[in-house]
This record gives sequence, C-alpha cells and structure tokens, in this order.
Amino acid sequence: MCRIAGVATGNEAIRATEQFVEEIKKRGTNMSGRIHSLESFGTVDGPGTRFVVFVQGCPMRCAYCHNPDTWPMTGGTIMEASEIIEQYERNKPFYQNGGGLTVTGGEPLMQIDFLIELFTLCKEKGIHTCIDTSGIAYKPTNTEYNAKLDHLMTMTDLVMLDIKHIDPEKHKELTKQPNDGILAFAAYLNEKKVDMWIRHVVVPGITDDEEYLYKLGYFIGQFTNLKALDVLPYHDMAKKKYKELNIDYALKDVKPMDKNLIPEKKQFILNGIKKRREEMGIVK
Ligand code: SF4
Repeated sequence: MCRIAGVATGNEAIRATEQFVEEIKKRGTNMSGRIHSLESFGTVDGPGTRFVVFVQGCPMRCAYCHNPDTWPMTGGTIMEASEIIEQYERNKPFYQNGGGLTVTGGEPLMQIDFLIELFTLCKEKGIHTCIDTSGIAYKPTNTEYNAKLDHLMTMTDLVMLDIKHIDPEKHKELTKQPNDGILAFAAYLNEKKVDMWIRHVVVPGITDDEEYLYKLGYFIGQFTNLKALDVLPYHDMAKKKYKELNIDYALKDVKPMDKNLIPEKKQFILNGIKKRREEMGIVK
C-alpha cells in the first residue's frame, strides 16, 4: 500500500488522471505535457541511440516498477513539445545511427494530446518515433480517445508494448489493473499495421511459469506486426527508491531472476508463437 502524499493507489490514480485530462482541457492547449525527466542517450528504448522522454503519471501499480516516482499524475515539469524537439536537436548527430525519439514513463498514452503534438513535430523533422507503453490507456469503446489514437498511430513508427502477465487474475494481482484493454491494444496495433515489440519481465514465482509464458507466445503469435520479443529478468534494484519514497515493496521476498535462465524462459514464449503461426498458416 502506498503511504506518501502524492503517490496514489489504483482508484485514486484513475481519479487523478480524470482531473489531469480536465486540466488539459481547461488549459486549452495540447502543446505541453507533464515530463518526469529526459535522457539524451538511451540505448534500451528502441532501435539505435535515442532521446528518451519519461512522462509523469501512470495508473498501473506494477509490483516491480522501477519508477514509482513517475506514478502521480500531478508533479513533473510542464514542457512544450517544441522544447523537447529543441533538446533533441542539440544532439541530433548521435541519433543518426537508426535511432530517434522514444516516449516512455510513466504511461505516455495518458497524455495523448501532447504525444500528437510531439510526434507531429517529429515527423516534420523526419525523426523516428517510438512509444514504450503498458497499453493501459486503451479502451476499445472510447471512440473519442481512439480517434486521437488513430491519428497518433499514423505518426508512430514503433510501439514497445509491455505485457506484464497474460492471465487476467494474475495481471491484476501484479499491476492492480485488468489486462483486457492491453491485450485489445495489441490487436489494435496489428490492425493499424504499427510495428510492435513485445517486452515481458520474468519474475520468479509470478511470471516464470511455463504455461503462462507459452500462453503469452500463443497470444502474440497471431500478430503479423510483431517484430521483436524482449524477455527481461526481474531485478530488485528499485528497492532503495521505494524505501526513500516510503512505499511498501511488494516483492521484498522475491529473489532477482537468474539471467542465465532467460533463454529457456524465452523459448517457452517462442514455442507459443510458433504454434499459433503454424495454426494460422503464417510464414515468418
Ligand atoms: S506501467 Fe511502467 S511506469 Fe507504470 S507502474 Fe508499471 S512499470 Fe511502472
């Protein structure tokens, strides 16, 4: 349970998000966003070297989140999209190795108006764009939001989608949020033909079960926009941050994942992908 002011629980976070959307509407501009931090030389957030924008605010509460300080929907620094592009341009030559700009968080798609503005500027300048997301903001029935999303996707070169758990109940235990919209978002990206990389963190005793890994593979195997699979070992380096923020660390008894076991775990997912593709007659 969260105990510090400004770090909201799941329901409080949803209310705070609604307030934030209202605030954006009142401001009458879609040109600025709430930014947690910027990183000029990211190497794990998409292809090549990347300018990485960490946005503030996330409604998920993943037990292993490395950035609990990004959770509150308030706080952060208000920045205009043009200021971000100015900072990108200072180091532009470094991104010309197939890199570009990635927005991560927090949850980028909670600030869709800002992303539209930012990616519009990126495309004017020929910058490769990537969103690293949990997909939690997607609701198939939210037509107003989805019209914006359709527009954003025309300017998005890559989505890195983190699927935390394939099982609905286990997902809720791990993140305090349901996974139905997230799985629907993967299907949406496939329909829109937006390249997708799937990321999955393997946590001992929580997501390392062969059955769940295979099911995850079987699910994502149906999508022809799937371009890469990144399987990451859980580590507990964020523990210190939780202590500083006075937030309970739910995985205190869970040991870090042995990274030597990752190829074996990844193979279970790959087996699921292969099976699904064989059934669908999809040739890789
Ligand atoms: S979706 Fe990302 S930022 Fe949000 S709680 Fe999970 S790991 Fe943290």
